[in-house]
Amino acid sequence: MKNIGPHVSASGGVENAPEAARQLGATAFALFTKNQRQWVSPPLSQKSIDLFKERCVNYRFSADYILPHDSYLINLGQPDDVKLEQSRAAFLDEMQRCEQLGLKMLNFHPGSHLKMISIDECLARIAESINIALSKTQGVIAVIENTAGQGSNVGFEFTQIAQIIDKVEDKSRVGVCIDTCHTYSAGYDLKTDAGYESTWRQFDEIIGLNYLKAIHLNDTKKEFASRVDRHDSIGKGFLGMDFFIRIMKDARFDHIPFILETPDESLWADEIKLLQELSK
Ligand SMILES: [Zn+2]
Ligand SMILES: [Zn+2]
Repeated sequence: MKNIGPHVSASGGVENAPEAARQLGATAFALFTKNQRQWVSPPLSQKSIDLFKERCVNYRFSADYILPHDSYLINLGQPDDVKLEQSRAAFLDEMQRCEQLGLKMLNFHPGSHLKMISIDECLARIAESINIALSKTQGVIAVIENTAGQGSNVGFEFTQIAQIIDKVEDKSRVGVCIDTCHTYSAGYDLKTDAGYESTWRQFDEIIGLNYLKAIHLNDTKKEFASRVDRHDSIGKGFLGMDFFIRIMKDARFDHIPFILETPDESLWADEIKLLQELSK
């Protein structure tokens, strides 16, 4: 059986996230460990940290299936040196919050070149940003999410992600999260039998399945190769239910968290239940 859960709210404190996940019947979840729309947030209180850990134990959430997501403001490939420093400081703060909470992974969007530098230069900056954060923390894996390739976002081709990983010094602390909506939008045809197999074969050849740490399980409102990032509820978009049946039966992914970032929160409990049934 797969471990599945949504990106839950942590408003009022990180300790509210495991509570919200439990109420939905989840066995995995994602959260923000700070306000994702602000550069700086107050540090986590010891009380919040203790409660978070206590609830994860009580509700049987393993750190293997909890995937914090960083702030949308952070751009680790930022072309401007001053702004890059701001992003690197904010990313380090997020890595340290994960350490404090006893978590093992931090999921982030690789970055954007903002049409000011080349893709290669942007990828090099991202790798250096990761190296800096890893050198100042312990135990937390930096998990790169593939993108739809909207705007100037990099990381929409597996080769770009491989290029980042290649420059990361501690390979044991870098990983990848595949977002199924982004993958399809970026031009990897997960929907068909042949496309599904070939996408994962390419992932394994170019990046390596050993780097796959999580899956963001989303349907998409946009057609194949649109390069647009618009999530849809499970089975309601262009990927369709057959894709979700296929991936829930795929034993290669039994050990990693499946995170729902689907738009209709009122469906989450039912989506989790359905996916759990399919994965049996
Ligand atoms: Zn995602
Ligand atoms: Zn997305």
